[in-house]
Amino acid sequence: MSDTVLVVGAGPTGLSAAAGVASTGRKVVLVEKENKLGGAPIISGYAKLVPSGEWAKDAIGRMVKRVEDDARITIHKGTKVTRVDGDFGNFTATLSNGQSVNAGAIILGTGFTHFDSINKPEWGFGTYEDVVTTTQVEQMVVAGKIACPSDGRVPERVCILLCVGSRDRQIGREWCSKICCTVSTNLAMEIKELSPKTDVFIYYMDIRTFGLYEDKYYWRAQEEFRTKFVKARIAEVTQGPDKRLLVKGEDTLVKRPIVIPMDLVVHAIGMDPNLDNPEIAKVFGVGLEKHGFLDRGEHYTSSFSSTRRGIYVGGAALAPEDIDTCISHGLAMAMRAVGDMNSLGQKAA
Ligand SMILES: Cc1cc2nc3c(=O)[nH]c(=O)nc-3n(C[C@H](O)[C@H](O)[C@H](O)COP(=O)(O)OP(=O)(O)OC[C@H]3O[C@@H](n4cnc5c(N)ncnc54)[C@H](O)[C@@H]3O)c2cc1C
Ligand code: SF4
Repeated sequence: MSDTVLVVGAGPTGLSAAAGVASTGRKVVLVEKENKLGGAPIISGYAKLVPSGEWAKDAIGRMVKRVEDDARITIHKGTKVTRVDGDFGNFTATLSNGQSVNAGAIILGTGFTHFDSINKPEWGFGTYEDVVTTTQVEQMVVAGKIACPSDGRVPERVCILLCVGSRDRQIGREWCSKICCTVSTNLAMEIKELSPKTDVFIYYMDIRTFGLYEDKYYWRAQEEFRTKFVKARIAEVTQGPDKRLLVKGEDTLVKRPIVIPMDLVVHAIGMDPNLDNPEIAKVFGVGLEKHGFLDRGEHYTSSFSSTRRGIYVGGAALAPEDIDTCISHGLAMAMRAVGDMNSLGQKAA
């Protein structure tokens, strides 16, 4: 039986899993398809994270450093797994860089893909330069300036449209992406901090600042930062004769049509299944659930197992999740993988 655990994906989930397995003394091979580690918060350049308020590059950077500094962890960047042979206890994975890895268990932390707003064309993304996504605003916050891409002016009025690519049956996205209400209220406050004269609006169907995020984000954004929340159903985003954007829809509280001019419109994009999931399902021999996320095995006594024995799955590969939850999933998978390998070893002895 191989003593090594193969971890695929080096976002918060995979980094946590790799460190967790290594802390038990076992060897880890960590395979990441991008040329840098850290997953979405690093690759997409997030600003300050919810709920810690720490810059993503510092918080996730520490997770990356812990893994890079651990002699028990071998890292392959810019690499994918192309083939998996064998079974639990003795898998052989072929890597795209020509190497192969013998591993007792495999952990999948392959995460999600950001919703591409081009798939919601009536809300103006791809047509108007000043319609952007939350990831673009995260990058503006990192750069220290909120500006309209069309001409660099500081916007007088910004609106954030929630649930873009989530809770939208018409485009096949039935799920709630869980974190975007909180991330958007946080961004509203960050915009106001950088540009105190800018008015920030949030258009919502429902507000789901779950758990402890209700007062820290939802109420604080309103009471301290004067963010205006409008319960609305948005029909379209167009442009007026003065080039300002027009957000059209219905205020669903007073049941009246609204047409409101804005300088910058922000899509709070959701979390799609990883575009690689059909390939991952084929290579690793694991199942997908009905929306295209990776599927679980038995929930309660075999948590974080995939549909194939010896392969575990967690984090945003399973469903939209926040970073804290992904870190817990990573540790839980490490525990499961090492525990199951120990039991298998004892049975074989
Ligand atoms: C705009 C936005 C802002 C957010 N801000 C916050 C926040 O402030 N706080 C918070 O808690 N959460 C936030 N989130 C959620 C956060 O992004 C996720 O919880 C987290 O990134 C999920 O971690 P993960 O490791 O499961 O997946 P990912 O971060 O997606 O990492 C997966 C890794 O696997 C790699 N990978 C994928 N496929 C393969 C493959 N086939 N082979 C090898 N490697 C592969 C990817 O390149 C990536 O490095 C935000 C989400 C969005 C959309
Ligand atoms: S978290 Fe909020 S913005 Fe995101 S999908 Fe759910 S309700 Fe919509």
